[in-house]
Amino acid sequence: TEMTRDKIVRDVKDNNVRFLRLMFTDILGIVKNVEVPVSQLDKVLDGKMMFDGSSIEGFVRIQESDMYLQPDFDTWLVFTWETESSKKGRIARLICDIVNPDGTPFLGDPRTNLKRVMEEAREMGYTSFNLGPEPEFFLFKLDENDEVTERLNDNGGYFDLAPTDSAENCRRDIVLELEDLGFEIEASHHEVAPGQHEIDWKYADAVEACDNIQTFKLVVKTVARKYGLHATFMAKPLYGINGSGMHCNMSLFKGEENAFYDESDERELSTEAYQFLSGLLHHAPAFTAITNPTVNSYKRLVPGYEAPVYIAWSCSNRTPMIRIPASRGLSTRLEVRSVDPMANPYLALAAMLKAGLDGIRNEMTPPEETNDNIYDMDEYELDEQGIRSLPTSLHSALKALKRSEVIKESLGNHIYTNFVKSKMIEWDSYKAEVSKWEKENYLHLY
Ligand code: ADP
Ligand code: GLU
Ligand code: MG
Ligand code: MG
Repeated sequence: TEMTRDKIVRDVKDNNVRFLRLMFTDILGIVKNVEVPVSQLDKVLDGKMMFDGSSIEGFVRIQESDMYLQPDFDTWLVFTWETESSKKGRIARLICDIVNPDGTPFLGDPRTNLKRVMEEAREMGYTSFNLGPEPEFFLFKLDENDEVTERLNDNGGYFDLAPTDSAENCRRDIVLELEDLGFEIEASHHEVAPGQHEIDWKYADAVEACDNIQTFKLVVKTVARKYGLHATFMAKPLYGINGSGMHCNMSLFKGEENAFYDESDERELSTEAYQFLSGLLHHAPAFTAITNPTVNSYKRLVPGYEAPVYIAWSCSNRTPMIRIPASRGLSTRLEVRSVDPMANPYLALAAMLKAGLDGIRNEMTPPEETNDNIYDMDEYELDEQGIRSLPTSLHSALKALKRSEVIKESLGNHIYTNFVKSKMIEWDSYKAEVSKWEKENYLHLY
C-alpha cells in the first residue's frame, strides 16, 4: 500500500500524533533524527525542513551546510510504545532522503546512494534486489546508575528456553513491538553465546530492507532499556565467545520470478546466480571495509566462532563466507555470512549489489565449491585450492578498498572519500593504543 499525503494527515488525526521524527542515516551507519511538533506537518511533507549538514559526520563542509529533508511517505510509522509524553499524543516517524539547497539529491546520503546503485540493477532488467538480514545482538545488564556493565543477562545457549533464557520476556516484547510496527517476524531465538540473540523477519527490496534494519535496531535498544538491559550490535563484544554477525540473504527478482532459480541446473541455480556469486567472491576483499567497518569487526572474523575467515562458498557447510541455503523456487538465495551489524546497511548493500552485478556483466565463473570444513585446512591445502582469506584488519581492508574501482563506484566519490578519511582516523587512533594483552605478554618478559 502506497502512502499518500492525505493518508498521513488523516493518520495524524486518528492516532493523535503530536511529534514527528525525521530520520536519516549518516556515513557511519548511525541513525540521526530531528523531532518536530506536529504543527510543522505541512512544512515536513513539503520537504522544507532544513538541517545543518556540517554537523553530521562525513556530510558537507561548513560553507555549504544547509540541507533539506525529503520524507519518503512510504516509511510513515506511528510508534506504538508508551512513554510519559505519549499519553498526551503519539510520536510518528518518516525516513528522509537528503536534498541539496538547489533541490538535487545529495549524493553523500547513503540511502540516496543505494537508490542510485539499484537503478543500475533496474537497467539490467532486475525489478528488485531482496535482502533478508539476520542481525545478532547481545544484551548486557545496566547498573544502578544506568551505566552499561560487562555482565551478560543470562548463561543461555543456542535455542535455550527459560529459565536459562531470562531475556525471553524482553525478546518477546521486542517481537511484539516489531509486529505492531508491521514487521513479519519469521524467527526469534537465543543464539550460541550467553546473552546473545537473533531475530529474523521477512525479506524486502533493498532500500526498504535497510530502513527496516535501522528501525529494528532502534526498537531493540528501546525495549531492552525498559528491562534494565543494554542491547549492542558490536561485532565482538567479548573475547572467547561468538561474535555477532548479520548474515545477508540476497536474491534478484525479475517481476514475480526469482532470477537465481533455474530448475534445469544440477543445483537448481541460474547462470545469473553463479555470476552474482562470483562477483561477490571476486570483490570480497574490497567491500569488506564496508561490510565490516570497524577495528572490532576483525576480531569476529577468526576461526572457531562460526564466523567466516575465508573467501569461499558452499551449499552444505557454514564455514565459508557464502552459503547457498537449500530452499529453492522463490526462496532461492545467497547468504553472505561475513557482514556484521556494525555495517551501514545502505552502504553494505550498495557495495555487495555492485559486486554481484559486476559478476553478471563480466560473466564471471565461480571457483569450485568448498565442502570441507575450512577451519581444519592448513595453509598448504588452502593455497592448493586457491582459497584467499578475508582481510584480517581494518587497515588491510581499507587498502583493498582503495585498489578497487568497482567498489569505489558503488559508494560514489563523496561517500568514498569521507568514509576512508574517517576510517583511517579510527585505525590510526587504535593502532597507537597499548593494549592490556601487550602489557600481559611483554611487560615482564622484556
Ligand atoms: P538460516 O538458513 O541462516 O537459518 P533464516 O531462515 O534464519 O536463515 O533466515 C532466512 C532469511 O532469508 C529471512 O530473512 C528470509 O525472509 C530471507 N529470505 C527468504 N527468501 C529470500 C529471497 N528470495 N531473497 C532474500 N532473502 C530471502
Ligand atoms: N554468530 C555467528 C557469526 O558471528 C553466526 C552464528 C549463526 O550461524 O547464526 O557470524
Ligand atoms: Mg545466527
Ligand atoms: Mg544464517
